[in-house]
Amino acid sequence: MRKIMVAGNWKMHGSMSMVETLLGGVIDGLDDTMPVDVAVFPPAPYLPQVQAMANGSRVAWGGQTLNPNEQGAYTGEVSGAMLVDFGCRYVLVGHSERRTLFGESDADVAERFEAAQRDGLVPVLCIGETQAQREAGETEAVVAAQIDAVLDRCGIAAFDQALVAYEPVWAIGTGLTATPEQAQDVHAFIRDKLSALDGRIGGQIRILYGGSVKSSNAADLFARDDIDGALVGGASLTAGDFLGICRGA
Ligand code: PEP
Repeated sequence: MRKIMVAGNWKMHGSMSMVETLLGGVIDGLDDTMPVDVAVFPPAPYLPQVQAMANGSRVAWGGQTLNPNEQGAYTGEVSGAMLVDFGCRYVLVGHSERRTLFGESDADVAERFEAAQRDGLVPVLCIGETQAQREAGETEAVVAAQIDAVLDRCGIAAFDQALVAYEPVWAIGTGLTATPEQAQDVHAFIRDKLSALDGRIGGQIRILYGGSVKSSNAADLFARDDIDGALVGGASLTAGDFLGICRGA
């Protein structure tokens, strides 16, 4: 039985007072009627504040990206060990904004995935197709290639301590959500692909859906066999909206 996970990607939003209100509201609002694992991904400068507030609570936290090198002359970058220093359990790798705005290739993402595990973090591998790729019937080929890059570098065993987030690019921040059927189809494809290599790993790995998830569509998504939670952008920025998604579990 896979436990639902709801993860909030705050992207480059926030301030100290917003973190206080948002995270405080989430921690206070979670209750036993919500059988979910919860994680937040704040901008790196707020990690100490998040750590101080969330330590000992049900909320875990992580980085939005990491540099794969252990240390060195990489101005502006953050290493996995630095994230671990601030209590991070998770790190996003390959978010579509990293791929499109910062030029991260499938191979770059695989390198970050490997570095995350080397440094003791659980990578959340974000994958998904663009609108043009979906319309061209390439969805499965695109997500397969994104996964294959990690499999080629790290092997199937690496997926034992990882999550996958299927985020169709056309649904991120657009208000367009994949229908639960569309999402389920791709999630099943991903699970089958991993299960063909290792049935246990394929069966236990959590595959989150991301793309305009809100409290109004969360329960419908979570009801599908292979949708194990959500990676949430916009609706993770207010405690009420985020808790509404947690209630969908
Ligand atoms: C995201 O950026 O991971 C995301 C899913 O954003 P939104 O929920 O705003 O579509």
